[in-house]
Amino acid sequence: MPVTREEVTQLISELVKIDSSNPWLVPGSPGENEVADYIARWLAPLGVKVWQDEVEDGRKNLIAMLPGSGGGKSLVLNAHMDTVGYESWKIEALVPRIEGDYLYGLGSSDDKGHCAAAMLTLKALVQSGEHLKGDVWLGLVIDEEGTSSGSMDFCRRYHPDGAIVMEASGLNNVCVTHQGFGWLDVIVYGRPAHGCAPEVGIDAIHHMGEVVTRLHQLDAAKYAPTAHPLNGKTVFHTGTIHGGTDYATYPGKCVLGIEIGTQPGETIKNRVVEIEDIFHQVKVIYHDFHGEVKITLDRNPFETKGSEALWEALSAEVLRVTGQPARRVGENSWGDAALFQEAGIPTLELGAAGANFHAPQEWVSLPDVVKLVEILEVTIRRFCN
Ligand SMILES: [Zn+2]
Repeated sequence: MPVTREEVTQLISELVKIDSSNPWLVPGSPGENEVADYIARWLAPLGVKVWQDEVEDGRKNLIAMLPGSGGGKSLVLNAHMDTVGYESWKIEALVPRIEGDYLYGLGSSDDKGHCAAAMLTLKALVQSGEHLKGDVWLGLVIDEEGTSSGSMDFCRRYHPDGAIVMEASGLNNVCVTHQGFGWLDVIVYGRPAHGCAPEVGIDAIHHMGEVVTRLHQLDAAKYAPTAHPLNGKTVFHTGTIHGGTDYATYPGKCVLGIEIGTQPGETIKNRVVEIEDIFHQVKVIYHDFHGEVKITLDRNPFETKGSEALWEALSAEVLRVTGQPARRVGENSWGDAALFQEAGIPTLELGAAGANFHAPQEWVSLPDVVKLVEILEVTIRRFCN
């Protein structure tokens, strides 16, 4: 029995109503456990295996598994249960609102609409009564909006033969690659001294200015002309800057926080080498220049591998259900797909249309979620048999 729009609307609404904002982003916020408990209760009548894996600080992934009869490939549907905070919402973030084809609410698209799609797909598979050869997993994880500890934990414990990571993309856009990124501290050291002692003081902020200018020149001269055909230009922007102690003293230290991308085949080391090259350029002009780079967070890029069978099944269903072919797309932003692929699990990313992620007026397309369930159900039949 195909899923109905009413079922989809009701389930996403129930998930949106439960505050699962990420405590790593917004200290003191409730996290994912209440929504995980709701999902566990919802899945219980299906008779599938359901359990929760503690990841950190009492926060738990919600795992479900429909065991196959053996001899087929297994697949996981991955979506994340956490949301960002909602201080910027002037209207109620946790009260779902339906207008036309859109359901508005915090996390409706990112990523509760996709948690709902995964749950309804498993229900459809169970209710069909048809036995699959391979196991079907739900990996509904915590902390995608933070440090991705939920998907990391899943990939440490389990190893299915394929993964569909679900994030908003539009049904014809199958994501096969995305950029990695690093959060780097660029630290420039000076020498503190009395403001009237230029022969002693070394101005860390002045030297940092030279670095910042050259970073933007690197962005324009190197990243812009060599944009990845699917992932776009390598991400670069400055984020934070701190330096100096007071008006009257030469600043002894200046710290610049930047976000910088990596493309498939690269690691954050590539970016660090470029920044160290900038240091050498500045040192030619200012012999007393001294800088270093510290990596705060580093995530590798995603490029799907070994996913031919999954692509074949998924793209055929996208075409059948939507009437339009699936396109291979990339993204300049990072997602959990990289972690599944890095664990050796052939991975593709797909989701319903949606917009305004991490912002008020976030919405998900209800007809897309209905179609997504249909696409996933048949894709799994093809892939796991
Ligand atoms: Zn997301």
